Amino acid sequence: MNICTAAAKLTRALTEKKWDALVIGGGHNGLTAAAYLARSGLSVAVLERRHVIGGAAVTEELIPGFKFSRCSYLQSLLRPAVIKELELARHGMKLLKRSPSSFTPCLDGRYLLLGPDKELNYSEISKFSKRDAEAYPRYENLLENFCKFMDPLLDSSPPEKLQEVSSFNTRMKDNLQKSIFWANLLQRAVGMGQKDLLDFVDLLLSPASKTDVLKATLATDAVIGTTGNSSTPGSGYVLLHHVMGETDGDRGIWSYVEGGMGSVSLAISNAAKEAGATIITEAEVSQLMIEDSSRVSGVLLADGTQVCSSVVLSNATPYKTFMEFVPHNVLPDDFLGAVKNSDYSSATTKINLAVDKLPQFQCCKLNGSGAGPQHMGTIHIGSESHSVEKLLSITSFPESCTWRWKGRRDDCGSHIEYSFSDSISMEEIDSACQDSVNGMPSRRPIIEMTIPSALDKTISPPGKHVINLFIQYTPYKPSDGSWEDPEYRVSGFLLYIQISSIIGYDMLTPPDLEREIGLTGGNLFHGAMGLDSLFLMRPVKGWSNYRTPLKVGSDVAYHNHHYEPLPETLRLFSLGSKQKVVFLIGRLKKWKKESAFFKKANKCSDIEVKYTDTPL
Ligand SMILES: Cc1cc2nc3c(=O)[nH]c(=O)nc-3n(C[C@H](O)[C@H](O)[C@H](O)COP(=O)(O)OP(=O)(O)OC[C@H]3O[C@@H](n4cnc5c(N)ncnc54)[C@H](O)[C@@H]3O)c2cc1C
Repeated sequence: MNICTAAAKLTRALTEKKWDALVIGGGHNGLTAAAYLARSGLSVAVLERRHVIGGAAVTEELIPGFKFSRCSYLQSLLRPAVIKELELARHGMKLLKRSPSSFTPCLDGRYLLLGPDKELNYSEISKFSKRDAEAYPRYENLLENFCKFMDPLLDSSPPEKLQEVSSFNTRMKDNLQKSIFWANLLQRAVGMGQKDLLDFVDLLLSPASKTDVLKATLATDAVIGTTGNSSTPGSGYVLLHHVMGETDGDRGIWSYVEGGMGSVSLAISNAAKEAGATIITEAEVSQLMIEDSSRVSGVLLADGTQVCSSVVLSNATPYKTFMEFVPHNVLPDDFLGAVKNSDYSSATTKINLAVDKLPQFQCCKLNGSGAGPQHMGTIHIGSESHSVEKLLSITSFPESCTWRWKGRRDDCGSHIEYSFSDSISMEEIDSACQDSVNGMPSRRPIIEMTIPSALDKTISPPGKHVINLFIQYTPYKPSDGSWEDPEYRVSGFLLYIQISSIIGYDMLTPPDLEREIGLTGGNLFHGAMGLDSLFLMRPVKGWSNYRTPLKVGSDVAYHNHHYEPLPETLRLFSLGSKQKVVFLIGRLKKWKKESAFFKKANKCSDIEVKYTDTPL
C-alpha cells in the first residue's frame, strides 16, 4: 500500500465514526490514558503531531547506528500500577538497573560513588566524612518515610471542590469523599510524628545534607529541570519528586530502559493497541471543536480534518491546550488568566552525543578502557572551585581526562575550560544559577552526564557509545545572543577537545524543546513545580481534578446534568495519570449509561454511544 492510500485510509478511519474519546498527543501519559480507556471497552484514538510517538519519552536514531533518548533518559517515576496493569514487560519494556547509580569526580583526585549498595555508600562517603557516612542511612530513611507519606497522594485525585454542584446527594457524597481524604492524610501526618513532620516541612523549603560533595551530588536532584537553586523554596519538593520513584520496588532507583526511553512509550502504545486503541502520528490538532456554550464535540486537525468525539483528553501542556486549542471567548477570563500566567520558564538544554570511545576520568581509572562503575550511573560534573589557578592546573594535567567541556566565555573574554575530572559543589550550583538569573547561560553549567550504552548494548555500534548531557542553566532567551544563531549555539558551549571522539550530536535548547517536542517554554514538567503550583494548585487553582470549564458533548446536558471534565490535561511523569483516567472512565460510563437511558426515555438524542458494562 503506498503512503497516500495509507494516509487516506487513516483519515477515513478517523472521520467515519464518533469516538468515545480522543487523546491529543502521544506522549507516554497520553498513551497511558488511551490504554486504560481502550481496556475498559471505549473506542479511543490518539492523535500525535510528530512522526513518532513518545513526546519527551522518545528514542530517535538521528545518527545511523546511535539511538538517542532525545529528552528523558532515566525511568523511575512511571507508577508501578501502570507498569503492572498494562503488562509493560510483556509489551517490550526492559529496565536496566544501574549500580552504582551516581559518580561524582573531584578535583583532588577523590570521587564519590553512590547507589543501592549500602556498604558501598558507607565506604564511599567515609572517604569524605565518617560522620556523614553514618548519617546517610538516616537521611535515606527519612526520605523513604516522606515518600511513603506522599505515595497515596500520587495515586489519588486531588480533593478539589466540585465546580458545578448538582444534587444534594452528589454534594454529600463529595463532601464525604473529601473528608475521608483529609482524615487519611492527617492520620498519616500524625503517624509520622512531630519531628519527621517538621523535617518534612523543612525539606519542602530547602534540602539538607552534609559534606559538600555529597550535598552537591544530592542537591542536583533538587534543581533538575528548574530555574532555581537548592535554596529556592520548593527545591525540596523537586528533590523528593526525584526520589519518589522506584525500579522493581527499589525506591529512588532510576534505571535505563533497553532501547532508550522510547521503549517505554512503545510498550504503552503496544498495550493500548492490543486493547483496541488507534494511534495516529503526523496528526496535529489545531483546535477543539466547541459547540455553543462551551461543549466539546471533537477536534479539528491542522489539515482541516474534523474528528468527532464528545470527550477529548489533552496530553499537550495546559498552556497549549487552553490558549491555543480552545477558540477565543469560550473559557472564563479568570481561568484563562491563571493558565496564561503559569510559570513555564526553563533553563535546561539536552545534548546527545554519539562517540567512538568512553570518557575516562583522571580520578577513577578503575577498569582500563572498558566501562567501569564510574560509567554506569549519573555522572555529576561541575567544579569545586571558581579558582582560575585550580582550573589551569587541571587543564594542564595532560591526561586529566579524555574529554573536556568548553564553557562559555568569562568576563575577560577567554573560554573557561574544565575537565570531567571536576566535581560539583553547592557554590557551583548557586553560581551557575545566578548566571541565568542575570539572563545568561551559566559560564560553568551543572552537567548530569549519563552513558546508557555502558549498560544497553542495543543503542550504539559495538565499542561506540551514546552520551546524554543534561545541562543547566541555559535561559530560553539569553540576553547576550540567540539560540537561533548557529555560532552562538556552538560558541556558547560546545564542544571540543578530542572532537574526533564525537561522531555527531543533537542539541535541544529550551526553544528547541518547545518547537520539537511541544513543551511550552521548553519546561520539562509542563509548567514549573513550585510550591505554588502543585497538587490542588495544578494546573491552576480550582481546577486540579482533571476537569476544565469545558463540557462534554451537547447530547448529555439533559436535566441539568453536567458532565464536567473535558478536556483533561494530563500531567508529567505519569504521576496520577492512571487515577485520572480511571476517574474519567467512571464518568464516561455513567454518562453513557444515563445517555442511553435518556435516549430511550426521551427519544430526543442523536447520541451515538455503545454502553459497555465492563467493570472498572
Ligand atoms: C530534556 C528532558 C529530560 C527529561 N528527563 C527525564 C528523565 O530522565 N526522567 C523522567 O522521568 N522524566 C524526564 N523528563 C520529563 C518527562 O519526559 C516529561 O515530563 C514527560 O515526557 C511528560 O510526558 P507527557 O506524556 O505528559 O507529555 P509529553 O512528553 O510532552 O508529550 C506530549 C505530546 O503531545 C504532542 N502534542 C503537542 N501538541 C500537539 C498537537 N497540537 N496535536 C497533536 N499532538 C500534540 C507532542 O508532540 C507530544 O508527543 C525530561 C524532559 C526533558 C524535556
